[in-house]
Amino acid sequence: MRFAFDNTYARELPGFHMAWQPATVPAPRLLFLNHGLAAALGLDLADCRSAELAELFSGNRLPAGAEPIAQVYAGHQFGHFSPQLGDGRALLIGELIDCSGVRRDIAFKGSGRTPYSRGGDGKAAIGPMLREVLIGEAMHALGIPTSRALAVVASGELIQRERALPGAVLTRVAASHIRIGSFEYFAARGDTEGVRRLAEYAIARHDPQLCGLPAAKRHLEFLRAVCERQAALIARWMCVGFIHGVMNTDNMSIAGETIDYGPCAFMETYDPDLAFSSIDQHGRYAYGRQPAIAQWNLARFAEALLPLLADEERQAHTLATAVIAEFPTRYHAHWLAGMRAKLGLTADTRPQDADADADTDRALAEDWLQLLHACRIDFTLAWHHLADALEGRDEPLQHLFATQAGDGMEKMASLAAWLQRWRLRRGNENSENRAAARATMRRANPLVIPRNQHVETALTAAERDDLIPFRQLLSALETPCVDSLDADPALTHFATPSSAGFMAR
Ligand code: AMP
Ligand code: MG
Ligand code: MG
Repeated sequence: MRFAFDNTYARELPGFHMAWQPATVPAPRLLFLNHGLAAALGLDLADCRSAELAELFSGNRLPAGAEPIAQVYAGHQFGHFSPQLGDGRALLIGELIDCSGVRRDIAFKGSGRTPYSRGGDGKAAIGPMLREVLIGEAMHALGIPTSRALAVVASGELIQRERALPGAVLTRVAASHIRIGSFEYFAARGDTEGVRRLAEYAIARHDPQLCGLPAAKRHLEFLRAVCERQAALIARWMCVGFIHGVMNTDNMSIAGETIDYGPCAFMETYDPDLAFSSIDQHGRYAYGRQPAIAQWNLARFAEALLPLLADEERQAHTLATAVIAEFPTRYHAHWLAGMRAKLGLTADTRPQDADADADTDRALAEDWLQLLHACRIDFTLAWHHLADALEGRDEPLQHLFATQAGDGMEKMASLAAWLQRWRLRRGNENSENRAAARATMRRANPLVIPRNQHVETALTAAERDDLIPFRQLLSALETPCVDSLDADPALTHFATPSSAGFMAR
């Protein structure tokens, strides 16, 4: 099999990485291959035997043209700066242009120690790597920008965590692996030339439309573009209840993709304070804090770019501060657009006065969320059944509220009052407009998400060599936005909330 590698990061940015070989693994075995993604990358895997693919995607036999490197970066982890991180268990093996003309990084994760491993073993376990497959593919199916898994290979060795776990190597594909932390690394060393070279590289790759601008303007607009992508991305997360879990600056991509899936999860019972990661004891990266954390991270990015923004420090600071201050407005615009789709408020149902309208709609969405919080309602099911209510079928929603603990009468009255407001806002509409609103709501309100318990069940089975639950869940996640569960009983299983008290690992 041929990879048409064209490795610009390795070639154009010496000093930003170290050439490094993946560790050899004893008994590679292919667990997962993403055929759709392989095709999108122009890789022809049809003639490859499973054993060959396992050799390839374990790193035992690299494809021709691969130039494996460990990328260096720094990062703010839980608010504290680490000046020296880098690919401690990952390697960028090369870049290629996919079938839609986009340059993609092909990288390993779990491929052994590197110069940046610090105390770590450079390895990864099967469970977390298959989790990355499930969540990444779910995000992709939802249309949310994300890195994606191309392959997972079991290494045939045990790695030591709290207990011994079977090891794996993941091959992932991303628009790039340039992080906010990549810039922070050079900025922290006072290496302005390094920051500049990385910025020029990133602009050429991700924002080529800026290339013709004068330097200071170009870098300021680059900052703005990264902020805009993050505002859009985080709004998408919030609209589906995604919690990244470890929003450190080294896990935030300049390209605006979701990257570095660790202890992430989809929220079930709605609660803005929900945090999943066991290492996040103070809830820094809780669901409801994600927009504010994104802005905080972007402020660190702006600081790293400061010397490029103006000759005079004060002026650079003023310019950067203004861009970062725009973030909440940008984020809220994306969030409101997402919420309007979720509420079935299409352009047709919008009155003329746009500003007053935005305030009304924001309040409508916020009050709905508050209701879900107060009544401890499943986020995904609530939105799904709201689409049923569009057609006057309120029973599924009423049932969802009625089956939760709490004062039944009060809950039902609050639900009824909110539904009345929603209907008033939607107004009278003809059947054509209603059909359009319904389609919008179905697209915006997925029913099949990777629920924690199903993910854990799939991963536990996979660790015991039973990949059937993993494949079933993965297949269900490919069509997240289904009209109703009646058509497919298998989906009913995956759409069922995890049992109360269940926490992701
Ligand atoms: P993360 O929290 O996964 O984004 O990782 C933060 C940093 O720790 C990165 O520099 C990783 O490469 C590094 N790291 C995480 N796990 C390991 C490991 N098992 N061995 C070596 N480095 C690791
Ligand atoms: Mg990371
Ligand atoms: Mg709470």
